[in-house]
Amino acid sequence: MSNMWPMMKGFVRDLSRYGSDLRRQDRWIRKHAANRGWSVNPRWMVYANLRLWLSDSEEMYGRRYCPCFEPSGQHDLDRSLICPCTFAQEEIDRVGWCHCTLFGRGDLTAADYERAEAHLMAEYRDVPLRWVDGVLDTRGMPGDELRRLPIPDAVHQVKRALNGKGVPLSVVVATRVEAVHLERLAEMRRLAANVAEVAGGFRVSLAKRRGEARAATA
Ligand code: SF4
Repeated sequence: MSNMWPMMKGFVRDLSRYGSDLRRQDRWIRKHAANRGWSVNPRWMVYANLRLWLSDSEEMYGRRYCPCFEPSGQHDLDRSLICPCTFAQEEIDRVGWCHCTLFGRGDLTAADYERAEAHLMAEYRDVPLRWVDGVLDTRGMPGDELRRLPIPDAVHQVKRALNGKGVPLSVVVATRVEAVHLERLAEMRRLAANVAEVAGGFRVSLAKRRGEARAATA
């Protein structure tokens, strides 16, 4: 349950932000699935979450990047992450579903998708966050075999920490691109962000904005 609560909090927040967009996402997802002979995840909660994350990705990065991976800043790799991604067919051929479990082989059942999701959750929700002296160190997560990108990425880790612990939150990321994404996340969540270069990466401090902190304590 402790792992579920932050996810539920995120779901409710994203639903109030992007709920009206779910139908638009549904239309293109079903169109691509029909064109390629894929099925679409039939499980309501996960399907709703994936569409919300796609909307979040569009708002955050300006493109419909994979909801499971943070764009790297490398042009060609990032292009290949636009959903449906370049890797989806290979994953569907190999294991039956794409990494995020949005799409699967045409004959997949709801029970198959449920098994696929358990695998996905183990990679994202169940990986312990690494705290060092109260600072979230997002570096050094294992890489995805095809994309060579970390799972979970820095943004997913920070969203989890924000849903659980909230602010103030200090984070260390490996690259400037990740630091810029956290600044964007802060803007979307109406938080203040401060970035400083440190050994081996960047430290991003997230806090309430000054005026809003005063209003919250008044
Ligand atoms: S893994 Fe699935 S959801 Fe993610 S971009 Fe590829 S096709 Fe889309």
